[in-house]
Amino acid sequence: MLRPDVGGAGVFGPSLWGGAALARARPREDGRKMNATFPLGRPAGIRVGAHWSVLLTMALLAWFLARSLLAEALPGRSPLVYWATGTVGAVVFLASLLVHELSHALVARHRGLAVDRVTLWLFGGSTELTDDAPTPRTAFAVAIAGPAASLLAGAGFLGTSLLLSGVAGVTLAWLGWTNLVLAAFNLLPGAPLDGGRVLQALVWWRTGDKRRAQVAAARSGRALGLALAALGLAWLLWSGSFAGLWLAGVGWFMSLSARAELAVGPARELLGRIRLGEIMTPDPVTAPGWFTVQGFVDQAASAPFRTYPVVTFDGRPVGVVSLGMLARVPEQERATTRVENVCARPPACLEARPETPLTAVLGRIGARPGQDLALVVSDGALVGVVGPGDVARTLELAVLGAEARRPAR
Ligand SMILES: [Zn+2]
Repeated sequence: MLRPDVGGAGVFGPSLWGGAALARARPREDGRKMNATFPLGRPAGIRVGAHWSVLLTMALLAWFLARSLLAEALPGRSPLVYWATGTVGAVVFLASLLVHELSHALVARHRGLAVDRVTLWLFGGSTELTDDAPTPRTAFAVAIAGPAASLLAGAGFLGTSLLLSGVAGVTLAWLGWTNLVLAAFNLLPGAPLDGGRVLQALVWWRTGDKRRAQVAAARSGRALGLALAALGLAWLLWSGSFAGLWLAGVGWFMSLSARAELAVGPARELLGRIRLGEIMTPDPVTAPGWFTVQGFVDQAASAPFRTYPVVTFDGRPVGVVSLGMLARVPEQERATTRVENVCARPPACLEARPETPLTAVLGRIGARPGQDLALVVSDGALVGVVGPGDVARTLELAVLGAEARRPAR
């Protein structure tokens, strides 16, 4: 599921009964929102992580399997058998969820789109793409890949369950049905569900109008979300079931996401076209890397900036330095320490090209005061910088419906 971010390209995913996604283009180094995410490795080269809340999901599933499903279907076994099988079942379910997300990611990458990462969390999984699909066909393929994988996994589990009996057979059957339900739920035709992305691709293909397709999918998502929320509430009132509460929450969240998508859509469309070269501050004041800290401080005292790109003697950009970073150099060392030895270097600071889309670096600029300048580099030379002020100006103009251009000098 997608929580649309201004400039977000595409986030696929819920998965466990409609999860939400995390805003994209946010590198791990930034870590403001994702600091509770731990890495799970890089299967097929795709960065996979899990938010701590996935442990809660796992515990709930294991509890449900052990205490409810298995204990009722096959009474009289040892609690150890129920709990061990329940835990394995929960882990395998989360693995099948990961397969759903990785299918989105792999199809996207196969079609030339950059994949930021795959994350598992409380409500399921999300796949974050850095690029927008260039054609309806690609958008369709990426969206349908997840539910198709869940469908196949469901059929596989159900088939295998027929060959086994006992706790393994019951657990496999549950895994099969749950994956089938997952596929079906995600195919409901409203953004931010996969089915909404499918609908969006189809409308885009039929009308040739990408914006209209986004609006259609978001409106449908809003209506669908409200309908699910109402259904969940009715279920809750009727039976007092926890599942009703859950469905109501998911529906409410969906409608909010879809509404946000409607709101940021036009701004996002505008932002999607903007390249760093168009909004950067060209020929910025630089800090000579070979200067001592003290020598540069004397020079910076008469400049109006707090953060500077650092260049070598032959003009190559090496990093970014702020007055705050200089202040952390002990006073007695300032006369002997060179600026290039204390500056932040990529990847601690951001280096990009003039043709890099703003949306690809949006979440990273302004992440940390003092390192919040993106160096814009072309053929090894510094051609400009993009700072939080440039980004804020561009975003505000986009909300006003205007396209930012490089300020005239
Ligand atoms: Zn999906």
